[in-house]
Amino acid sequence: MSFRASVITLFPDMFPGPLGVSVIGRGLNEGLWSLDTVALRDFATDKHRTVDDTPAGGGPGMVLKPDILASAIDHVAPQNDPRPRILMSPRGKPLTQARARELALGPGAVIVCGRFEGVDQRVIDARNLEEISIGDYVLAGGEVAAMVLLEAVARLIPGVLGAEASRDDESFESGGLEYPHYTRPQNFEGHEIPEILTSGDHGKIEKWRRAESEALTRARRPDLKKT
Ligand code: SAH
Repeated sequence: MSFRASVITLFPDMFPGPLGVSVIGRGLNEGLWSLDTVALRDFATDKHRTVDDTPAGGGPGMVLKPDILASAIDHVAPQNDPRPRILMSPRGKPLTQARARELALGPGAVIVCGRFEGVDQRVIDARNLEEISIGDYVLAGGEVAAMVLLEAVARLIPGVLGAEASRDDESFESGGLEYPHYTRPQNFEGHEIPEILTSGDHGKIEKWRRAESEALTRARRPDLKKT
């Protein structure tokens, strides 16, 4: 079964957006993965098509109503749908390459994009939404975050990147940052490509890359464990 993404959003026109171009978009067109959007506003029940209301307890902003969001979730993912239900949220677990890889090997994902102050806690609990964050900053809505998640996942779906998908030396794949890359010209503004890379000695190149990768990880991201 190929990866099926369903995105619940107030702004379905934002999709596929950047997910429609390059290798990710080609994978989409070729059916290696699929993407559908669910317009949250279609599930509103009043004539103004209201999807949000003021926060209980006071305070600024608006909160997405739990009943409307639950109807949208249940419509796109009935109880027996095996796909994880994800809420993009700055309070969520930080997105990792490992989680992206797990998702890529699974049946897909139902992704809820928050807006305004966020969503009513009761629907998070009642529909068992897995909260995922793309970083420690606050966006205006979950759509761009969902695109980030889907781009990270889609490139790992078998066939999307072809042979490259098996690369395990990329940043985060083995716990650290990747070594630096070089390509022609041999001399760029007086700087040469490191000699070892043009030596043809693959053993030495491999060793050099590992050392560079370890040094970079130590210097920039000592929190990452290089295995
Ligand atoms: N009041 C919330 C922020 C709401 S931002 C708080 O302080 O935690 C509106 C919506 O944007 C959120 O519901 C979420 O869906 C999305 N969003 C904002 N920042 C995000 C992030 N870093 N990662 C993932 N989603 C984010």
